[in-house]
Amino acid sequence: MRRWIGLLLCVCMLLSLLPRAQAAQKRIALTFDDGPNGKVTERILDLLEREKIPATFFVCGEQVERYPALLQRMAQDGHEIGLHSYCHCYMDTMEQAELADDFASCLCAVSEACGVRPKLFRPPGGRYSETLVSCAKQEKLSVILWSIDTLDWNRRENGRSLSRILQQADDGQIILMHDLLKTSCEIAENAVLQLKKEGYTFCTVSELLGGNPEAGRVYFAAA
Ligand code: ZN
Repeated sequence: MRRWIGLLLCVCMLLSLLPRAQAAQKRIALTFDDGPNGKVTERILDLLEREKIPATFFVCGEQVERYPALLQRMAQDGHEIGLHSYCHCYMDTMEQAELADDFASCLCAVSEACGVRPKLFRPPGGRYSETLVSCAKQEKLSVILWSIDTLDWNRRENGRSLSRILQQADDGQIILMHDLLKTSCEIAENAVLQLKKEGYTFCTVSELLGGNPEAGRVYFAAA
């Protein structure tokens, strides 16, 4: 009898180890808005290259025209590029013609800089309207929001950006960051190292959303 109990205990111990070995996949997407922005974007690209992970950059048309080489590097390094308006004006109050103009100039800036035709769009400030979503659909763009707001752009709040990421991290989440301030490079580096330790793998937003997100649909995270 004792032998059976011993055997049973062994089997239970082995079973308790199994879920860890076959842990569910934990995928997460890191996104950077408002760039490209010179040295800050360069440092973030260096970090992503060093850590061999992809990210998604939501770029502004006028910044793309200022730093076309950074767009070329993003594309060459395998990152995903999405639109974030031409000059970061809020777009939820724009009429259809103004929206179409903004999309056209931003799409043109990106395609001239690196030959990529983005499929994703993130509205400045996360502010969108029905007209904006239908215009995005016409341009074959998905509307991408986020599920983890780091507030890394805010000097009074970014001391807690890293803990926001680590506390809210989960499979399928989209992390919002910005390539604006130097502090964001350190936050991103610490987050990447820590999340890797916790078993997360990083992917682009399109990969996270199954490879082919639907145009004109609003996403906050993977379903
Ligand atoms: Zn923005």
